[in-house]
Amino acid sequence: MERTLAIIKPDGVARGFIGEIIRRLEKEDLSILAVKMIWMTKEQAKGFYRVHAGKPFYESVTDFMSSGPCVAMVLEGKDAINVYRKLMGATNHKEAAKGTIRHDYATNIEKNVVHGSDSPQSAAFEIAYFFNELEIFKS
Ligand code: ATP
Ligand code: MG
Repeated sequence: MERTLAIIKPDGVARGFIGEIIRRLEKEDLSILAVKMIWMTKEQAKGFYRVHAGKPFYESVTDFMSSGPCVAMVLEGKDAINVYRKLMGATNHKEAAKGTIRHDYATNIEKNVVHGSDSPQSAAFEIAYFFNELEIFKS
């Protein structure tokens, strides 16, 4: 069993896709162990995406991520990181496979509706960034 952090980004929340995205992940073998809505400050968004510090899109993506509420979730399942990233599709929606969340809903490379951890190490950091142990349902 593996855990991953999923986020419905501010564009996904504002455009009314919370239910659709949760429906899609519930159809996979992904259990939701925790969920919360959070509106990050700019500083919190910078901390979350600190691996991207210095990249040309860092300022812009952290402005975007702090522009409205997100839904953060801890997902668990077999190969959860890859299963969820497959559901999301490629970072750039123009390259995302048909039927993926980003293919179906993203409007540009930045406003791409969802986030998912990309490794067990980033999942551990990202889950702890939003949730403490008491908030995570024990499967
Ligand atoms: P995420 O980490 O949000 O799941 P990802 O792992 O597919 O996305 P990353 O390379 O980690 O992609 O980039 C983090 C986020 O920064 C992207 O999801 C997107 O919102 C934004 N981003 C990435 N590359 C660009 C770019 N070239 N221009 C603008 N924004 C970008
Ligand atoms: Mg990433």
